[in-house]
Amino acid sequence: MIAYLLGMVLGAAPATAAAATATAPPAAASVEPAGSWVVRDVTVIPADTDEVLAHRTVLIRDGKIARILPPGAVAKVKDASVVDGRGKFLVPGFVDAHLHLATEGAIRGSKDATLSGLDLGRDHRYDRQVMLSLLKAGVTGAANLGGSVSSDDDLLWLRGEIDAGRIDGPKLYVGKLINGPRAAVAAKPEGAVPASKPEAPTTAADGVTAVRRARERGYDFIKPYQFLNRETYLAVVEESKRQGFITTGHLPQLGCGTCADRDFTFAHPMTNVAHIEELARFARFGSDLAPKDIDALAQAMVDSRMSVSPGLITLKTIVGMYVQREVPPVPGEWLKLVDPVTRREWAPPANRYLSQAFRDQENADRFSAGYDFGRVLARELWKRGVGFTVGTDAPLPGLPFGVSAQQEMIELREIGLKPVEVLRAASINAHRLFDPGAGSGAVREGERANLVLLNADPLADVQNVAKIDGVFAQGRWLSMEQIDRKLAEGEAFQRDLERQLQARKPAAP
Ligand SMILES: [Zn+2]
Repeated sequence: MIAYLLGMVLGAAPATAAAATATAPPAAASVEPAGSWVVRDVTVIPADTDEVLAHRTVLIRDGKIARILPPGAVAKVKDASVVDGRGKFLVPGFVDAHLHLATEGAIRGSKDATLSGLDLGRDHRYDRQVMLSLLKAGVTGAANLGGSVSSDDDLLWLRGEIDAGRIDGPKLYVGKLINGPRAAVAAKPEGAVPASKPEAPTTAADGVTAVRRARERGYDFIKPYQFLNRETYLAVVEESKRQGFITTGHLPQLGCGTCADRDFTFAHPMTNVAHIEELARFARFGSDLAPKDIDALAQAMVDSRMSVSPGLITLKTIVGMYVQREVPPVPGEWLKLVDPVTRREWAPPANRYLSQAFRDQENADRFSAGYDFGRVLARELWKRGVGFTVGTDAPLPGLPFGVSAQQEMIELREIGLKPVEVLRAASINAHRLFDPGAGSGAVREGERANLVLLNADPLADVQNVAKIDGVFAQGRWLSMEQIDRKLAEGEAFQRDLERQLQARKPAAP
């Protein structure tokens, strides 16, 4: 199944408990002042309602939307910089609710011999480039759904640096992936199930410990993964609630003696399902797909109150690789922004979606139908009011950071969401999911200033979400020119990294 393969790539992060995070300086307590801006004469699309507010003047101060003034009102603000909003549209910043951030920490902690000892330079240049590429696409919030231990260390540090205004980047939400050993939920376990431990729990007690440790380490949410058996899945979901964590992850594996089943899963729901293919897996279990399955599944989702990050662009891209046997082209100049380490993962032999083993899987001929099914089911869920967020699984092959969130927005438009509903899924819904204590995420007074200024109306054509004039990230204005200049400053670093990787390529036989 595709879900399992995603898991192979993303869930099976290398064990790097001992990896040093020598990169992280001691956390400084200081916070850089965010400053003040006035956006003059702009059309505001708050996105929490269908309202469109023309000719507004928006005052951004100390990281917040301080005032939204009606047409004609004069804003006199000392020391504020002016952004010309004429003919432009101010919308809430986009959030990628499902990605796996490429980090220096992941490279340093990797067991891949080609990556060990790479010179990553100073000053977190690698991480900075990744963060800037997200901002370039208007992504001012990003939820990391699991990485290696050393990568998570890096992200927990980066989150603070970004919040303090020392690194330009989206608001980061760092998730802790909790998974059991696959053998624990195999229908026919071959050999013994490994002993339970909090890093790979098969008991409720170890599941609870895993969640508590995540709380101590400062994670933002929990990602339960599909190889948790029934009692451990339940313990992780329940303890997460007690610890004030939301859960977004994979639905549990079905079909073994200790496994959860469908009814059990819906009776003990996570907060959010990390991709729609999870539900495809549930629908197909035990029988071929029938219309009544879609109906039953959609109703079960409504009753469980789980939201979902459909990830249609992810499925489309994977199916594209299966059918075309190559990585689908990425829009515009975005390939240039994919860092050399990630690009290496996209090419054979590292890209398992292009491998024969991927093609040889049982039921591989159903992959294409999985995308079609995902679209049909997502449409059904949308009609019934199930909440959506925009999640991409970037940087899976073909899915660069940033632009893939825009592509997912277009996918959601194509299954029927109105443009304002797409904006809502891409912003407010994710904000409510990951940051429920920090306002609504709409463009309203008092809200955190994570915003995108568009040069064209996204309500007229959702593709206009790509026409970005600049962003407010954590209350700081970055014009597209500034973002491009900062990205260009990192080009020499990228080339150097590329050269280092080339030099390590084994000589052709
Ligand atoms: Zn993922």
